[in-house]
Amino acid sequence: MANELSDLHDWRFTIDFEGIAWATIDREGENMNSLGRRATEEFGEIIQAVEEGASRGEIKGLVIISGKESSFIAGADIREFENFDTEDKIKDVVRQTLGLLDRVERLRVPVVAAIHGYCLGGGLELALACDWRIADREEGTRFGFPEVKLGIFPGLHGTVRSIQAAGPVDAMTAMLTGRMLRPTTAKAIGLIDQLVPTRHSLRWAARKAVLQKRRSKGMPWWKKLMLKQPVRSLIARQMRAKTAEKVREEHYPAPFRLIDLFERYGDDPAAMRVAETDMFVPLMASETSRNLRRVFKLSEMLKAEAPKDGFKPQRVHVIGAGTMGGDIAAWCVVRGMQASLQDVDEAQIKKALDRAKGLFKKRLRGKPAIDAAIARLIADPHGKHVKHADVIIEAVVEKLDVKQKLFAHLEKDAKPSAVLATNTSSLRLEDIAKNLADPGRLVGLHFFNPVALLPLVEVVRGIGTREEEVGKACAFVTSIDKLPLIVKSCPGFLVNRVLAPYMMEAVRLYQEGEPREKIDQAALKFGMPMGPLELMDMVGLDIAAKVGEELKLAPSGDNVLATLVKQGKLGKKTGEGFYKWVEGKPKREDTVYDRAELDRLGRELVEPMLDEAERALADGVVASADHLDAGVIFGTGFAPFRGGPLHYRRMDARANAPAEAA
Ligand code: NAD
Repeated sequence: MANELSDLHDWRFTIDFEGIAWATIDREGENMNSLGRRATEEFGEIIQAVEEGASRGEIKGLVIISGKESSFIAGADIREFENFDTEDKIKDVVRQTLGLLDRVERLRVPVVAAIHGYCLGGGLELALACDWRIADREEGTRFGFPEVKLGIFPGLHGTVRSIQAAGPVDAMTAMLTGRMLRPTTAKAIGLIDQLVPTRHSLRWAARKAVLQKRRSKGMPWWKKLMLKQPVRSLIARQMRAKTAEKVREEHYPAPFRLIDLFERYGDDPAAMRVAETDMFVPLMASETSRNLRRVFKLSEMLKAEAPKDGFKPQRVHVIGAGTMGGDIAAWCVVRGMQASLQDVDEAQIKKALDRAKGLFKKRLRGKPAIDAAIARLIADPHGKHVKHADVIIEAVVEKLDVKQKLFAHLEKDAKPSAVLATNTSSLRLEDIAKNLADPGRLVGLHFFNPVALLPLVEVVRGIGTREEEVGKACAFVTSIDKLPLIVKSCPGFLVNRVLAPYMMEAVRLYQEGEPREKIDQAALKFGMPMGPLELMDMVGLDIAAKVGEELKLAPSGDNVLATLVKQGKLGKKTGEGFYKWVEGKPKREDTVYDRAELDRLGRELVEPMLDEAERALADGVVASADHLDAGVIFGTGFAPFRGGPLHYRRMDARANAPAEAA
């Protein structure tokens, strides 16, 4: 028998002198391994070779391992999903891949998965079909089922196998949340059988596992009890309630179908396998899943705005330690950078440092990491660190003369290669840059409040801003794990421009007598993350009114927003706005409104937002309709399962178009 399979592109296959077959996935031309069509077909050839070798007694076992730095297998290849546009096509592909994994499970020789890096989705499902799973404890090794984020659940018998390995509660929690697990957690719950310190120990440990014919024992007896009725239904009910706290079934059905699957078939693996496919296929073919896959691709598109090589910022200097500046500096530190924070008012710096500690405790694990972050955030009242910084962000009060003066100094002190950025929301970039010797250097980096929670940063290109500086700014944004959206310098940029008409529509409806609870419920039912009146209360009615005025959108007639501001009712921060706020929460009436009526109102609310989105695209605020949809989804939380405002309008028009005459 040949010890190699020739003509493989995504795998390498060898058999060593001890009769152990090594299948190394290393996809050609890709940084990450994923299960695409070619990789799966080649894996089929490998399995066939192992089946034949094993039946002749020449192969003693199989080890599946990765040749990549950062991934075992990071999931299915989402780029290929678009080819699966009908339920029949999906069923075909699923059946073929399932057949392959079942053959892995049935091999007569031991099969070991040796895992370093991301082992997600289909990759984890493949690992679960093996007899024994070994992982290293390295920082980059992670396990998870991200499928629910794409509107589906594991469909390669991962639901069944993960429950058999880890028990119902741990497996279902992993599948329902899509959370990534560290190796120690994955081992503790039973998804993984063995840990080794580093990737260098994987091969040796895998060899030993094959020779010792090791086999995972599966979940312990006490976890099996949870599969029996009535416990199983009780668990299912709890999971349904917990999931419903986070998402609505009408918007995101996948987690609810997964719970149904578990409740009906949890103690019957054979029936669950069949039902898994039956329930998976329609989800995969649904509009929701297609739109969520679109959102994933849009995020990848924004990340790709950053030039691949070149600018690698390490040090950030932020001027203005108020709401925005303090939080921007703290976020940069969480993502591993060093940040220095400058303000004319030292008390502001102190407040920002205290607030940052809270963020570090929430986001970082372990005292050493938190202490290191505290050390990386430097109070710098006199701007001594300006000259060392790779990126300088101005976030001082919104006054043109103050900003102009500041940049005149900064330009002299900064390194020639440093990015000079302003976080202004409403001033013209060209005016701020006016006194600079090199005005082409200034970019906008428009962060949103709260910085830690919102994934988007608008990268503002002024009329004279150089492309190179825009590219560097995008590289900075991706290096702090945010998504850059390049926008034209214009009032409201993209996000505030599109959001403001929606907020003002809510004010108008309220003025006309619609109850505030009904308005907010209608927005939630449409799929917005928060009702517009509650959102305005959170942002501050003074700020909302100012944005409305700047964009010339303030409601006409008896302007209730202006009246509330005049009365000092500014929202959450003063204890009253549209709502009264008690212990950080708005007090609401629990009225239940007619669902159809809420649907109608929801559409009415978003209509001005969709109109403005079209105008913004026509005005060239962003490069394309996809950029616009991406900006509005990641900047405002616009119902991701609807695929973005312009996409939604296109789909809606198509759905409502009269059927073409035959
Ligand atoms: P803020 O009032 O909370 O903080 C401004 C800080 O700047 C204060 O601490 C003040 O002491 C300091 N400052 C004033 N002049 C200074 C100077 N010459 N040198 C150093 N420090 C100086 O303001 P904020 O809400 O953080 O806004 C800052 C900038 O961010 C503004 O341009 C604003 O338009 C923009 N922005 C704000 C938000 C928001 O939601 N607050 C969102 C996006 C962008």
